[in-house]
Amino acid sequence: MLAGNRGPAGSAEAHGTLAGGPAHAAEPEAADAELAAARAAWARLREVESVTVTVIVDNETDGLSTPCRCCDPALDPETRTPYVSEFTAGVQAGHGLSLLVEVTAAPSTAAQPPEGGGGSSGGEERRVEEEAASVVFDGGPSEELWAANVRRLGLGLERVGGAVLSHWHVDHSVGLAAVAAAASASRAAPCGDAPGSCAAALAPFVFDVHPDRPLRRGLLLSAGAKPVPFNEDVSLEALAPPGCRVESHAEPHTLLSDLFFVSGAIPRVTAFEAGQPGHATQGRDGLWRLDPHIMEERYLAVRLRGQGAVVFSGCSHAGIVNVVTHAQQVSCGPVFAVVGGLHLASRPMEARIPETVAALRQLAPRRILAGHCTGWRAKAALAAAFPDTFQPCLVGGTYRFLAPQLPPPPEQPPPPGQSQPPRDN
Ligand SMILES: [Zn+2]
Ligand SMILES: [Zn+2]
Repeated sequence: MLAGNRGPAGSAEAHGTLAGGPAHAAEPEAADAELAAARAAWARLREVESVTVTVIVDNETDGLSTPCRCCDPALDPETRTPYVSEFTAGVQAGHGLSLLVEVTAAPSTAAQPPEGGGGSSGGEERRVEEEAASVVFDGGPSEELWAANVRRLGLGLERVGGAVLSHWHVDHSVGLAAVAAAASASRAAPCGDAPGSCAAALAPFVFDVHPDRPLRRGLLLSAGAKPVPFNEDVSLEALAPPGCRVESHAEPHTLLSDLFFVSGAIPRVTAFEAGQPGHATQGRDGLWRLDPHIMEERYLAVRLRGQGAVVFSGCSHAGIVNVVTHAQQVSCGPVFAVVGGLHLASRPMEARIPETVAALRQLAPRRILAGHCTGWRAKAALAAAFPDTFQPCLVGGTYRFLAPQLPPPPEQPPPPGQSQPPRDN
């Protein structure tokens, strides 16, 4: 099933020949360097104890269906991946994706320098409070939808450090203008009583984007046809109001105190995940070129203690099998969960469903939370193939991933001269 090459599957279209489009296959040395860079960034990534995902925008709303077995607290009160649906807030669906991803890191111990300084040796250990960080992953297709759903869900951006854009498509980028407006307002708010609510204490909100923002994207359905342009992506200026700034990264990196990982380019190793037929990009020279591979798409990931990587994929234009394969190679470990759009809707994409399901069986992520552009045929196939691990990603829903419970600490013997307190049982 895996073709073994690191570039896109070859075809006339794959190389975007209408106006001499770019070739995307990385040379072996460059591919090795990219993987090494990704592994170096992953090595800095810290483990987290919990991941909470709130779906602000998704194609589908369904507040009534029960969760799959492994995500249902009613069936498994001890579940470490509980899902809670939302029915009463009145959130609305729309073609696109926006997630709020919140993580907590374990309290850690750090050496306390002895009084009077002199380095860390000989100091007492002090307990560091649990750390939390949050990002918005993509902004959905419209400012109004994002702002309305955030209001209905009662979410705020005071404690959110930034936003990551998966790729330059309007159903992911346009709503980021509303994220910027909300983040700017949160940074400009006067000091309140709650700890950390003072605007002066808040760091700038960072929009993490790929530098290859296209002039325009659209469809070229045949060589002589007129391009069908999509709407325009959000502008960089709209993402930089007071209190916000834009950071462009093509390379893999971490953010927010090394609690989140953003991949670089995703190698295309499967033969059947051959990009989006007819997808085109307008270059600075005004010419439209076939661009089926959308190479700037990145995934977001976190490292969940004791479980593995939790991967967030916006549209999976690389193919979800390529995404999971890359995440496994980068993390040198299992992918515990994939969350996001698998882009298996539309006629040419639906033909890839059987091979995708078969490959996911081999890769064996233990949770598949598919939404957005996955499509109902793929969702049905995934639900049939993975009845206990597939869970639709639905607007308003809250999905949690919790690290395994730690065993209780061993009992300490009482200090000399003190007796053991009596036990209750
Ligand atoms: Zn897309
Ligand atoms: Zn999309």
